[in-house]
Amino acid sequence: MSTDTLTPDRIARLQDEVRALARERGAVVLAHNYQVPEVQDVADFVGDSLGLSREAAATDASAIVFCGVHFMAETAAILSPDKTVLIPDPDAGCSLAASITADQLRAWKAEHPGAVVVSYVNTTAEVKAETDYCCTSGNARAVIEAIPEDREILFCPDMFLGVWLERVTGRKLNLWLGECHVHAGIRPADIERWQAQAPDAELLVHPECGCASQCMAFANGRTHILSTEGMIRFARQSPKERFLVATETGILHRLTKEAPDKRFEAVSERAVCRYMKMITLEKLRDSLRDWKHVVTVDPQIAARARGAIERMIAIA
Ligand code: SF4
Repeated sequence: MSTDTLTPDRIARLQDEVRALARERGAVVLAHNYQVPEVQDVADFVGDSLGLSREAAATDASAIVFCGVHFMAETAAILSPDKTVLIPDPDAGCSLAASITADQLRAWKAEHPGAVVVSYVNTTAEVKAETDYCCTSGNARAVIEAIPEDREILFCPDMFLGVWLERVTGRKLNLWLGECHVHAGIRPADIERWQAQAPDAELLVHPECGCASQCMAFANGRTHILSTEGMIRFARQSPKERFLVATETGILHRLTKEAPDKRFEAVSERAVCRYMKMITLEKLRDSLRDWKHVVTVDPQIAARARGAIERMIAIA
């Protein structure tokens, strides 16, 4: 039975099984904001990459089940080498992380000797091992601002986030031309249509979006470029009632839970990450029951990647 056809009773039963197995196994369940609602609802902690990394580093549970994509589980494994990290579906990848390899990054570094490498957290462990600072959209600006002004910076792999960072920090960055197919698919035309249809709404845009740089160009007082956690904070605190959201549609569930008196609509209903949606409640239950799929990182790669990830966690 696919998750799409789950009845409320079956969802409740599976969630009970997951909770019982997690307790029995001493595992904490972490879920990304883009996960399907029934997985978010059973998790011990739901958040963005930065929040989940912090939680993975801080938890005293002996095992972590990571409901997200593979690089996120890998990051948790690097931060917690003494813990077992499981991912319910090992094929849950990321088109953005796949857009740069460690060999490509090494070649790029060779062309810019002495440059500081800042990698978005959506990268493989091998790429992180070649990186000075990791960042997420939640702290990318602070990471760039922490680097001395006279240092050349290579930023990879997301070009849209990179363009946004150049704009908000005033720094010139060397950008890798990678993109997330989901966010790149949210086009300026989607934004324009909504701006016309909902002039009373606040527009929340993730900086990875293909529309983000254009949004900056015609930004008005009601356009806000924010990480997913930033969107949640903003919506909770805002006196406004209606919000248009330009990121993966899984965030709508979390936003609606956190600010139930407000109205949230996706700028593009097509913005669905098939990798994130590969994690289902059944696979989560099976993962805990059958103790699969264990995520491991080569200890030498992990040792080199850990410094960049720890710098990311330390910078607010
Ligand atoms: S939404 Fe994009 S960046 Fe996020 S996991 Fe999916 S493919 Fe990767």
